[in-house]
Amino acid sequence: MRVVFLGPPGAGKGTQADAVSKDKKISHISSGNLLREAVESSTETGIKAKCYIEKGLLVPDQLVVEIIKDRIVKEDCKSGYILDGFPRTLSQAKVLDEMLKKLGNKLDLVIYFSVSEESVVLRLSGRRTCANCGANYHIRYVPSSKDGICDKCGGKLYQRADDKPETVLERLRVYHEQTEDLIAYYKKKGILKEISCDADIDAITKEVSDVINCTLQRKPLISRGVARVDSL
Ligand code: AMP
Repeated sequence: MRVVFLGPPGAGKGTQADAVSKDKKISHISSGNLLREAVESSTETGIKAKCYIEKGLLVPDQLVVEIIKDRIVKEDCKSGYILDGFPRTLSQAKVLDEMLKKLGNKLDLVIYFSVSEESVVLRLSGRRTCANCGANYHIRYVPSSKDGICDKCGGKLYQRADDKPETVLERLRVYHEQTEDLIAYYKKKGILKEISCDADIDAITKEVSDVINCTLQRKPLISRGVARVDSL
């Protein structure tokens, strides 16, 4: 199964993608993590991407497309994957369609995580990320057991430079300007499901799991509870 998780920064896409990845045994591909790894290891792409990421701007399509292209053909992607943070623009979505077509594949589902701007700012300003494994925590909602230390690998937690309030606002502006077109694009294709993410994490996880199971079984999904689902 090939799924795209779409939505503003701070909607909880990464947390939900981790849960689905474990549950369905499919790879979680985060374009943000791949780019941060490239920056960290000072690859050619990383060096070029660094200044865009720090300013909260989108990295040029060409750089991010190359990274994704290399990633989706790896062995662990054979049984499917979740793309988290990619595509983010209409042109990236079209390139992805082409890439998949060449591989004889297509997207099965796009989940759009909708969330209020207030929640985004609250979530991102409290987010802490592991410098070693990239796991995310929240100082209030998902704290690590030991202050500043990752539960999974013992790495140090830090606040991403682009999670600082002024950069968060810029990322949201960029999101509204560039990414919202994608919602209409995938709606038209009939593969978009919308889930409201202002509820608590467990309820959202349950809704995501229901949507994915229904898609796997090719059943129509009935709208209920916290999830507003556009089955178009
Ligand atoms: P994220 O961790 O998904 O919030 O991404 C962090 C940053 O990486 C973004 O603010 C962008 O600078 C960059 N980035 C991640 N994914 C993409 C993408 N699909 N296109 C362009 N830039 C991206």
